[in-house]
Amino acid sequence: MKKDTMRFSSKLIHAGEHKDQYGSAIVPIYQTSTFAFDNAEQGARRFAGEESGYIYTRIGNPTIKALEKTVASLENGYDGIATSSGMGAVSTVYMALLSNGAHIVSHDAIYGPARGIIETIFPKFGVEATYIDASKIENIEKSIRPNTKMIYIETPANPTMDIIDIRATAEIAHKHGLPLVVDNTFCSPYLQRPLDLGADIVLHSMTKFINGHADVVGGIIVAKEKSYYDTLRSVMVNLGFNIDPHQAFLAHRGLKTLAVRIDRAQENAIKVADFLEKHPKVAWVKFPGLKSHQHYELGKKQMDGPGCMISFELKGGLTAGKVLMDNVEFALLAVSLGGVETLIQHPASMTHSKMSKENRFKAGITDGLVRYSVGIENIEDIIEDLEQALNKI
Ligand SMILES: *Cc1c(COP(=O)(O)O)cnc(C)c1O
Repeated sequence: MKKDTMRFSSKLIHAGEHKDQYGSAIVPIYQTSTFAFDNAEQGARRFAGEESGYIYTRIGNPTIKALEKTVASLENGYDGIATSSGMGAVSTVYMALLSNGAHIVSHDAIYGPARGIIETIFPKFGVEATYIDASKIENIEKSIRPNTKMIYIETPANPTMDIIDIRATAEIAHKHGLPLVVDNTFCSPYLQRPLDLGADIVLHSMTKFINGHADVVGGIIVAKEKSYYDTLRSVMVNLGFNIDPHQAFLAHRGLKTLAVRIDRAQENAIKVADFLEKHPKVAWVKFPGLKSHQHYELGKKQMDGPGCMISFELKGGLTAGKVLMDNVEFALLAVSLGGVETLIQHPASMTHSKMSKENRFKAGITDGLVRYSVGIENIEDIIEDLEQALNKI
């Protein structure tokens, strides 16, 4: 079967195909920092880009390339750029697209450090930002200025689960000649493909669903067009945000089961969200699969499923939330998400604690909001654990 006609679950296994002299079934770990040339002329040809082949692992490596090709194929992009972490991917995009005096328009509730570095590190390069509720599409166009260089969104957003209309945002971005960048970590390419909806660049923390086993930190960027790809790769290579071959191997191995992992975790999440919404101690639940979700219809339109992430607030606010987090025995009290294990965390004191209280409240991240990442364990065990901890409140 031709690679470009394969369907998603087949691409997971075969898109990063690799042939070596031994007929290895999977891509080996090329744990090498550098690659020898046959002669001086060949070295010169490789540096000049006249001959394909590897030079040095910061620039490229066969294990890393296989992973990049696979994710690019899943996202229907031109090519991928793997990075040392999700923040390495975010930083590469910012460094590539923002220059002195540039302005960025973004959603107010995005991954904490993705906003944090714009507000603490980038001002010294003269970069300005406007953070708005991008789920109200009219806010985006109002925020664009003559020096705006990029629109950056994350959907569903972290941790409010706001859903932003990718197609409509891309139309506004392109009307103003701007690239749209989407952090697709919460969905993975299995549930949402932003490039197909008009985005120019998509990025992931591979630490989450793509690797899925809580044993790797990594990131990846996929560009739709060669021109963005070339710029992004040059920034990544020269600033040294590259992933290590061993990390890349693990992420690629984890990726192969993405579809089966998400199918199972999502099936669990639907049941957990339903359980929480009916529970008398729960004030509200935000999960794209619930009809009560503020953007239920939009989620159904642009996502292939509601995903595995749930945010909720208890009627007893933060105090009750603490009792819950201290009493769950099964769910790990830990940040991160998208792994095979169920995790619970408290954004206001953990992932979003660096945000000012005012900005946090404006973004809808209340003191009592609890974020729950549903794993692939037995659903009865997951619910029994929540039930016994809720009973202690
Ligand atoms: C975790 C995460 C990141 C950052 O990724 P790291 O691998 O931790 O650097 C970026 N965006 C989202 C949505 C995330 O969940």
